[in-house]
Amino acid sequence: MFSLSNPEIRFAVEAVCEAIPLARQIQKEMAGESLTKSDESPVTVADFSIQALIAHRLSQAFPHDPLLAEESSRVLKKGQGTVERVAAYVRQSLPQATPEKIYEWIDHGASGSSDRFWTLDPIDGTKGFLRGAQYVVALALIEKGKVQLGVLGCPHLKNGCEPDLKGQGSIVIAVRGQGTWAAPVSDPKKFRPLKVTDHRSSQDAALLGSVESAHTDKTKLRKLLQALGAKSAAVLMDSQAKYAALAGGRGDFFLYFLPEKKPDYRMKIWDVAPGAILVEEAGGRVSDLLGNPIDFSCGGTLQGNPGLLATNGHLHPIILQELKKIL
Ligand code: AMP
Ligand code: MG
Repeated sequence: MFSLSNPEIRFAVEAVCEAIPLARQIQKEMAGESLTKSDESPVTVADFSIQALIAHRLSQAFPHDPLLAEESSRVLKKGQGTVERVAAYVRQSLPQATPEKIYEWIDHGASGSSDRFWTLDPIDGTKGFLRGAQYVVALALIEKGKVQLGVLGCPHLKNGCEPDLKGQGSIVIAVRGQGTWAAPVSDPKKFRPLKVTDHRSSQDAALLGSVESAHTDKTKLRKLLQALGAKSAAVLMDSQAKYAALAGGRGDFFLYFLPEKKPDYRMKIWDVAPGAILVEEAGGRVSDLLGNPIDFSCGGTLQGNPGLLATNGHLHPIILQELKKIL
C-alpha cells in the first residue's frame, strides 16, 4: 500500500478531492453552459475553475514542477463574463482569486519542459459532464517519460469502478510499483485495492464503450468485436472512467481507433497518463493500436502513438493480433 504521507501523493489526493465538490456545484448551478474550442469540443466554467485551483495548489506545493494541462487562458478570454464566474467559484477556496490571477494560474507552468512534470485534465469527459453522465478529474506525475503517480476523481463511480450517478463518487489512485486503490470521496483514507479481470479468452472479453462515436471508427470496432466474438459494452462511459472500470474488473478492454473523419488524430497526454497507470498497476496493459508502449516524453500530444488499446493484460496479444488484420 502507498503512503498518504508521501508529499506528491498527499498533494494529488487532496487536490483532486478539493476539485470534486466544486465540479458538482458548478454542474448543478450552470447545467448546460459551455464555450466551444477550436477543435469543436466544449469547455465549461468547471474546466477553467478546476484547472486554476489545482494549478495554483501545485505552484504552492511544488514551485518548480511544470504542469501540462488541457485548458488555456486564450479560450477563457473569448467567453464574455466567463472569467468573472470562474473567479467567483475559485474564490470559495482561494479568496485572492481575481480574473488576472485566474489567467495566470490557468497558464501556470504551461511553457516549461522538464524531466519531471504533472499533467491535468480538469474535467475529462466534458460532454459527459454536460449530460450529467461520467466525467473525471485526472491528474498524473510523470518522471523521465514514465507515469509515476495517477489520480482520478470520479464523481459518478462507486467502489472506484461501478457506474453510480447518485452516489458519493470515488477517488482512484495508482503509484508505480504499489498497485491501484480506490476510496470513497467522502472518506479518502479507506482505500481498497483494484484488480483487473482474469478473463483469458476473447469470447469472455467485455468491451467498455465510449458514448461519443466520433472518438472512434465504428466500422472497425464492429469488425473487431465480430472477429473476437467479444461482448459489446453493456454500459457506455465517457472519459477516463473507463480506465478505472477496467482496473476494477468491470470490463476487459477498450480501445480508440483513429476516428474515420480524423485519421491523423493523436490523443493528449492528460487523456491517457492518469488512466494508464491505473490499468497497469491493477495488472492490465496499455499500448497504442500497434502494440507499442505509450511515449509520455513528447509533450502535450502523443505524436508517436496512433490510437490506444487497454486490456486486462491476458487479452492484449489476442486483440493486437486481430487488430493487425483490421488495420
Ligand atoms: P471518451 O473516452 O469517449 O470520453 O473520449 C475521450 C477521448 O476521445 C479523449 O481521450 C480524446 O483523446 C479523444 N477525443 C477527443 N476529441 C476527439 C476527436 N475530435 N476525435 C477523436 N478523438 C477525440
Ligand atoms: Mg477536459
